[in-house]
Amino acid sequence: MKNMYGYAHRLRRDGSIESICLGCYLTIATARTEEGLAPCERSHICDDDHLAQQREKWKQRLESPFDVRG
Ligand SMILES: [Zn+2]
Repeated sequence: MKNMYGYAHRLRRDGSIESICLGCYLTIATARTEEGLAPCERSHICDDDHLAQQREKWKQRLESPFDVRG
């Protein structure tokens, strides 16, 4: 399965760049240049288990009693 979501690149304080998968929101690579991220981005496959866990967390957060108004 190929990643169809793409990646967000974020510049870190130390000048390196990290690549975050927009499918599973994992930081998949850190490199000094964007070219250095490319091999990891090409080989990354979203972790379905992690994705399912994240979805469950968001769902629980939405249903959390702490969010009740009043
Ligand atoms: Zn992913």
